[in-house]
Amino acid sequence: MDAEDPRRAITSVGELLLDPRIVSAITRLDRSLVKKAVAEAAGLARLGRLDSSQIVALALSRLPRASSSFSSVLNGTGVVLHTNLGRASLSASAIDAILNATAYVDLEYKLDTGERTPRARNTVLALLEAIPDADDALVVNNGAAALLLACCALSRAKQVVISRGEMVEIGAGFRLPDLIRSLGIEICEVGTTNRTAIDDYRAGISMGGDTIVKIHPSNFHLSGFTSAVGVSELAALGLPLIVDIGSGLLRPDRLIPDEPNVADTLIAGATVVTFSADKLLGGPQAGILAGRSDAMSKIRAHPLSRAMRIDKLTAAALEATLRGPSTPTYEYIHADSESLLRRCQYIAASTGTDVVPSVGAIGGGSAPDARLDGWAVALPERFARLLRMGEPPIIGRLERGYLLVDPRCIPVEKDAELIDSISRAMRDPSCT
Ligand SMILES: *Cc1c(COP(=O)(O)O)cnc(C)c1O
Repeated sequence: MDAEDPRRAITSVGELLLDPRIVSAITRLDRSLVKKAVAEAAGLARLGRLDSSQIVALALSRLPRASSSFSSVLNGTGVVLHTNLGRASLSASAIDAILNATAYVDLEYKLDTGERTPRARNTVLALLEAIPDADDALVVNNGAAALLLACCALSRAKQVVISRGEMVEIGAGFRLPDLIRSLGIEICEVGTTNRTAIDDYRAGISMGGDTIVKIHPSNFHLSGFTSAVGVSELAALGLPLIVDIGSGLLRPDRLIPDEPNVADTLIAGATVVTFSADKLLGGPQAGILAGRSDAMSKIRAHPLSRAMRIDKLTAAALEATLRGPSTPTYEYIHADSESLLRRCQYIAASTGTDVVPSVGAIGGGSAPDARLDGWAVALPERFARLLRMGEPPIIGRLERGYLLVDPRCIPVEKDAELIDSISRAMRDPSCT
């Protein structure tokens, strides 16, 4: 390389790292990741394949914009608990609680005495206030974990009795009976797909089952010649009774009359009720076990409870969900059809779209028969990708050859952004 060779003029990687644009990237991203991108770009310049003035720009273009790649999206599907979109949208108080718990917190610590306390005691207290019929409660990672832990801790014989009508697949190919068996617990299957009677359970007990598990078939509906045994009748058999109600409705809701609730299930005699925190409860992902104190003590003491323990952010968000104002999940499910219509009329008038009726759903495998009557704006189907790739991304629902954007699960204060994003898509040359 002679003295005139322009490649000699290329700034060293060390100096490039002092460029203000790179310094700013290092505040957002891992230093070695940034350094690698810069070194690669400088390498291209040294080979003469890049102008040296473009090194920083190329390095930045190859780096992610932020350390987290999650895109916050507008849920225009009309499905309140959309599993692909992360189920429940958290309340403002839950979000504050998470931010507040990010650094050091008194998670297992009592400030006035300086003593260690049980983990997340205030979350458990909030749960017990919300579920006065339970003696004790415990929070684990998710609903499936709650059910498994209850089975492991309560069945001494490692044999549980389950009706064939309740052998549920919860999604993504995962089946609750397989999960239970994977822990070495045998299932005494009783009854048939459509009908199970109390005598079937008695037969299961005589086969060695020492714990009864009742699973709410939350994501499908069986109708016709069917029968199942209720919680109070099962409780009368005198064995530990675990009831997985799935959706976590704390008390009856007239909009979803077929959905079992925690209070009534405990009053009917369940030993332990298990459910998810991020379905109808509208909180962070977690699984809750609530019930009688003797059973709950066994559950707490079981080694698996440690493997399923929740983190401080979940504990904080769950407490705030329970103690805070009503959740987005509740508000979206109970959204008033008239105000959804008015919002749609305004969005349609601003964007040149049409207003059509839309039936939303609760989703997340909850209350498959519940119809949430509302409204949507309709666009030609070909706009789906453009809206998904927009800023902010809008996820709609394809139906009858149209792309429907239902405002039910979109906060009202986002309507202006929604309108901007739809208008931009409508003007995009690729779709006209
Ligand atoms: C959703 C559901 C589960 C699984 O709960 P996760 O929180 O998703 O692990 C288990 N049982 C029933 C009845 C459910 O509805």
